[in-house]
Amino acid sequence: MKFTDFNFEEPLNQGLEAIGFEEPTPIQAETIPLVLEGRDVIGCAQTGTGKTAAFLLPVMQHILKKGHNGLAALIIVPTRELAVQIDQQVEGLGYFTGVSSIAIYGGKDGVSFGQEKQALSVGADIIIATPGRLIAHLNLGYVNFKQLKFLILDEGDRMLDMGFSEDIEKIVGYLPKKRSNLMFSATMPTNIRKLANNILNNPAEINIAISKPPAGVVQGAFNVYENQKIPLIKHLLDAREMKSVIVFCATKKSVSEVERALKKVANVGAISSDLDQKSREEALRKFKNGEINVMVATNIMARGIDIDGIELIINYDVPKDAEEYVHRVGRTARAESTGIAFTLVSADEQYNFAEIEALIGDDIRKIPIPSTLGEAPAYNPRKPRFTRGKSFKGKR
Ligand code: AMP
Repeated sequence: MKFTDFNFEEPLNQGLEAIGFEEPTPIQAETIPLVLEGRDVIGCAQTGTGKTAAFLLPVMQHILKKGHNGLAALIIVPTRELAVQIDQQVEGLGYFTGVSSIAIYGGKDGVSFGQEKQALSVGADIIIATPGRLIAHLNLGYVNFKQLKFLILDEGDRMLDMGFSEDIEKIVGYLPKKRSNLMFSATMPTNIRKLANNILNNPAEINIAISKPPAGVVQGAFNVYENQKIPLIKHLLDAREMKSVIVFCATKKSVSEVERALKKVANVGAISSDLDQKSREEALRKFKNGEINVMVATNIMARGIDIDGIELIINYDVPKDAEEYVHRVGRTARAESTGIAFTLVSADEQYNFAEIEALIGDDIRKIPIPSTLGEAPAYNPRKPRFTRGKSFKGKR
């Protein structure tokens, strides 16, 4: 399937070209025709599958065909970060379309509140909002939803986890009855189904199965305090002589810290975006030919590491989502071989790790750290306490 099969208006095709999307991802291929037909859709899919464009493209197509008549689409999201990210994708995909959008979330200043008010009353085409902030505007009475055609609920399960269920139902009460509804959620527990039944109308259901780590990977996790992570990596490298190890870190800063710390115990190299292309290639060449045994790398840099025979993957921190976990872990046990993947989980990361386990449908073995490293934190992956609406209330 190609994007041209959807017969989008030309400015949208130009946006796709400019942003470099060549082929629809599976969720886009399935969702877009349904939404163009006017069906409601419930999609089980997580970040990384391309779900954002799956709902933005048909919405923008609608706006291009029907003209800019006021607020056409409301996207409700759990966090400001997601709101900003979606807003940026509207900007990218919609660069040539003239479609306007605004992200509405708490914790901004009074000037922003005024801008949001303007957009909500005069009518930007697309609003991306967190529930609490939107309700604050709704309570003030100027929001004009008369022309609204699309309601999109993104990361539904996370919104329910954060206690937004009542807020969502309240917002829905303000919307015109005749509209399309789309809901996306990484998981589909009963409470999500209930919410969907209340809001969606005979939805088509789409399931995008998450990829799983290759069968040959032995996975394990260690619960540790942050300051035990480097001593534990040293211990793991000491325990067995490994010829080919990758240590993944979330940030460039931790890449250089880990590299420095491991210099004494291994032939270590590092790749992060701090290095120029030539130095990266040089480091990779040394890793491939065995001059370097331990490569410390950020996630993005790791995409270039296409090497067979990697024996051990160490996640210095918990990957940000299941997709990233599977990607990192999949660097080992390639082509039917076997490998080991360990993840170091600090107390703050336990909840994220439990979410990854749930998404890949695997209970990863928790291995006790050696007693010489001291006491480890207990494993108790509680949901983080979110400060919903707090900063906003303070500012109003
Ligand atoms: P999402 O799941 O919507 O957060 O998207 C994950 C990433 O995939 C984002 O960086 C998108 O820019 C990118 N992406 C989405 N759709 C496509 C596509 N059809 N081709 C290439 N990249 C895409």
